[in-house]
Amino acid sequence: MAIRLNSDPEVVAAVREGLARTGGYCPCRVDRTEDTKCICREFREQMADPDFEGYCHCMLYFKPKG
Ligand code: SF4
Repeated sequence: MAIRLNSDPEVVAAVREGLARTGGYCPCRVDRTEDTKCICREFREQMADPDFEGYCHCMLYFKPKG
């Protein structure tokens, strides 16, 4: 499983700025809990799912199938 960053550097920069602003919590979410700390629970679960292919909610990371 090869997680990679979004190939668009502007997206990566914007999400990283957001993460810096929130102290590491998902900038796309209002809640600040362990579940929304990057890498958030949702994407951890998607990474563990061999059938999932796609971006995390913020589009910082991309996971291929497998
Ligand atoms: S993995 Fe993606 S969606 Fe999850 S917190 Fe990090 S940037 Fe946000």
